[in-house]
Amino acid sequence: MIMADLEIKNVHASIEGKEILKGIDLTIRSGEIHALMGPNGSGKSTLSYVIMGHPKYTVTEGSITLDGNDVLAMSADERAKAGIFLSFQYPAEIPGISMTNFLRTALNHVRDKNVSVHEFRSLLKEKMGMLAMGKEFAERYVNDGFSGGEKKRSEILQLAVLQPRIAVLDETDSGLDIDALRIVADGVNRLRTADREMGMLIITHYQRILNYIKPDYVHILVDGKIVTSGGPDLAEHLETYGYGWITAENTAE
Ligand code: ADP
Ligand code: MG
Repeated sequence: MIMADLEIKNVHASIEGKEILKGIDLTIRSGEIHALMGPNGSGKSTLSYVIMGHPKYTVTEGSITLDGNDVLAMSADERAKAGIFLSFQYPAEIPGISMTNFLRTALNHVRDKNVSVHEFRSLLKEKMGMLAMGKEFAERYVNDGFSGGEKKRSEILQLAVLQPRIAVLDETDSGLDIDALRIVADGVNRLRTADREMGMLIITHYQRILNYIKPDYVHILVDGKIVTSGGPDLAEHLETYGYGWITAENTAE
């Protein structure tokens, strides 16, 4: 298996002519969990959209590669096929389509071939077992009437089934209650044990999810730049001291 190595180098990006990302350097290797933290408006979601190829954003400088392949030259669809997964902060509801059908269609799409019904059933069974999900969940309509926690479950199940090389989870401002938070964390931890190849970028404003998921690296984004990187202790420091000390150092001109 090829090792996934997402390399972001000196990325500058703007929206409607306004520069939001001002030189981002970040490398995510296979199996690593990185947390990206930062105050509201610092550009965290922008980075996730830029990685995924959202057309609203223009990359004006720098590069993003996956195993040396130019990600910026790929369409959003090609990026998904290359193994980049972006979770949605506000997942769509699709009444009439069961989770099973949705997941199978998505898997066929990213793999660019039709997985047999039999093969898909056993894959889904395996992943739902791994995530300790009841099988009735697969028969429900996508996100239709799902609670916050169930939407997160559905997202984690997508991750488990699609097995991307790099997953970007933007949890910011999603207002998760403690149960939903635990579901995400538990799912991520199970995935991490089951799939040691997946690299993850967990984006969060708050430190609390990192009480449940131990990242290998923590990066702090302020005003479009990563101003500090470190280990999990950096997130604990933020929990105690907030962002004030860091923004004061980095916005004074
Ligand atoms: P975060 O996820 O860290 O809270 P975002 O990436 O969502 O930050 O936003 C970064 C900055 O981009 C914010 O200052 C926001 O005001 C700005 N921004 C977002 N959308 C637009 C837009 N359409 N036009 C101009 N600025 C925008
Ligand atoms: Mg955001």
